[in-house]
Amino acid sequence: MERGKMVYEGKAKRVYEVAQPDAYLVEYKDDATAFNGEKRGSIAGKGEINNRLSAIFFQMLEKRGVRTHFLGHVSAREMLVRRVRIIPLEVVTRNIAAGSLAKRLGLEEGGKLSSPVVEFYLKDDALGDPLINRSHALALAIATREQMDELEQSALMVNEILRAFLLEKGLLLVDFKLEYGVLPDGRIVLADEISPDTCRLWDVNTNEKLDKDRFRRDLGKVEEAYHEVLSRVEAGGTL
Ligand code: UDP
Repeated sequence: MERGKMVYEGKAKRVYEVAQPDAYLVEYKDDATAFNGEKRGSIAGKGEINNRLSAIFFQMLEKRGVRTHFLGHVSAREMLVRRVRIIPLEVVTRNIAAGSLAKRLGLEEGGKLSSPVVEFYLKDDALGDPLINRSHALALAIATREQMDELEQSALMVNEILRAFLLEKGLLLVDFKLEYGVLPDGRIVLADEISPDTCRLWDVNTNEKLDKDRFRRDLGKVEEAYHEVLSRVEAGGTL
């Protein structure tokens, strides 16, 4: 597919215009960053793996009634998506205490949460993506009350679907980050990506980390972890 103008370059993806006016081409890169861009590196094969995994997850979610921006697979590193206006929120859902939640609340990493937690972070690199609550989002006119409800309900539904699916593959869905976009007609769709860059995934038996924390925390075997997730997700069929 012919690429038009590049409209956006992020840490892990580039977005291009295409002839189809309501679509964008997304190219997944091997580049990896952490700690708000302070740590930089590359994970060989990541772009292809994240493109493949995101496509699998988006298609699975669509089948179960979650609207996404996914339109189709284009090549090993590229997918076609709907053009949306990204809502500047990172919607994080957690099943097990880890990362910033464990730190903020003084919980031990790996501690089970009695019910899933949904959090909103403002997408703002200069501010370091601060944690905000619903009334902040309303006050900043980022979304309406109804849209905030929809984001929370959607994130919880995605959590249930992904958690059950991944558990069958021997993976614990510890936590993950979603981004949503708005279509020209005002409907909200799940956007961005779902991959080991944006999810914490632990082996169900050993709690071994099989996600970007291996890069963030210099745990080694980073490429192997991404390959392991893909092969488990693809084993035994995906849909
Ligand atoms: N996450 C992400 N992008 C971000 C921040 C977090 O994809 O900019 C994901 C992260 O991979 C994890 C979840 O969101 O699965 C929760 O991250 P957390 O708040 O614990 O932040 P961390 O301690 O990883 O910085």
